[in-house]
Amino acid sequence: MSWWEADDDEDDVFDEADVRVRPNPKANRPRTKRRPAHEDAVIGRVLGVDRGRYRVLIDEDGPEERETTAARARELRKTAIVTGDRARVVGDTSGDDGTLGRIVGIEERTSLLRRSADDTDQVERVIVANADQMLVVVAAADPPPRPRLVDRYLVAALDAGIRPLMVVTKTDLADPGEFLAHFDGLDDLRVFRSAHGAAPTAEIGRALAGHSTVFVGHSGVGKSTLVNALVPDAGRATGHVNTVTGRGRHTSSSTVSLRYRGAAGSGWVIDTPGVRSFGLGHVDPANVLGAYPDLAEAAEDCPRGCTHLPGAPECAIQAAADAGRIGSSRVDSLQRLLETFAAREDY
Ligand code: GDP
Ligand code: ZN
Repeated sequence: MSWWEADDDEDDVFDEADVRVRPNPKANRPRTKRRPAHEDAVIGRVLGVDRGRYRVLIDEDGPEERETTAARARELRKTAIVTGDRARVVGDTSGDDGTLGRIVGIEERTSLLRRSADDTDQVERVIVANADQMLVVVAAADPPPRPRLVDRYLVAALDAGIRPLMVVTKTDLADPGEFLAHFDGLDDLRVFRSAHGAAPTAEIGRALAGHSTVFVGHSGVGKSTLVNALVPDAGRATGHVNTVTGRGRHTSSSTVSLRYRGAAGSGWVIDTPGVRSFGLGHVDPANVLGAYPDLAEAAEDCPRGCTHLPGAPECAIQAAADAGRIGSSRVDSLQRLLETFAAREDY
């Protein structure tokens, strides 16, 4: 069992039917006693979840801003409520010590970042709601960068409609040039590089202002160090990673929202625990190609229904790679992901 499952409330298994929040035509019928209208509900931002208790920020930036603790109503038993969700809370929302509100619903999400245990696992885990950016934290060395893991982060972000950014840490230890060349084809990808062992926090901060940015990265890349530099009172535990288990001492910590306040304005940093794998079982294979704009462009010349897999007849992506117009590592990366989906069809 990975730490994700260990951390997850069993009820948090994502179920499309359970989290559908679009207005439904029957919604205006008189409500029964069993489903009260909750007109007195206040809406707040879910900052974090711990053993079935949600920390919810109410009246954000308002005169009565406060953090409350809430449990979820019984009717939401099967609904995944995650960091970043906008929750409707009733009951005691004073935030006073010992009080507990009740979450009776969640607002429609603008984005949803999900993962599954592996590519063939249809059970999805919801990580973060309503993020509009993803900052992928990669180390130039120690641990060595893993282009394929980064590809997976990027695909997950693009599939969810989340804009990816990248920061390369530990450039004092190695030159990330070769690694970064792997992403040359992703024109939209903004990359920040640390210099002399320090991340360009002012520059990153400007990109965070006005956004909700989820930070992802393999354990040990320096993500907590970066979060602490950006959000001085974050207090995220940093430390050496056990290279055998891949676990740092803070891997049990859960996903939390932290407020970034900088010269350019405020924003939200959503810190996730170090992810060792990133399954894409929930991604529509057709969306994978969309994560590679250069390859998608080349694919316009592919025969209809082209799989783009190695050996696919007249595949224009393969032809472009053979002609040196596209880096073969990118085609290789795309093909590996597509092969994963091809294998999944057999299940
Ligand atoms: P996390 O697991 O991604 O949260 O990583 P941490 O922030 O705990 O950092 C792991 C280790 O890398 C710590 O010992 C940090 O001091 C170190 N570290 C972080 N950033 C840098 C950097 O830019 N250069 C070097 N040399 N070490 C760094
Ligand atoms: Zn093709």
